[in-house]
Amino acid sequence: MRAYRCSVCNYLYDIQSADLDVEGNPIPFEKLPDDWKCPICGIEPDLFIIVESDRTPDVPAK
Ligand SMILES: [Zn+2]
Repeated sequence: MRAYRCSVCNYLYDIQSADLDVEGNPIPFEKLPDDWKCPICGIEPDLFIIVESDRTPDVPAK
């Protein structure tokens, strides 16, 4: 999953910090609700920038 960084407070939205849907799966940034805002500074998703996450997805290897 692509990661996004808040351009104001540097909050990172990625697989590790993503909001979870009703089934407990991470919600991709692109699929966040329209009223979603940065949990730290409250800006809109428009002001997030795409970054390459260097964190490893927390998924068991097969
Ligand atoms: Zn922010």
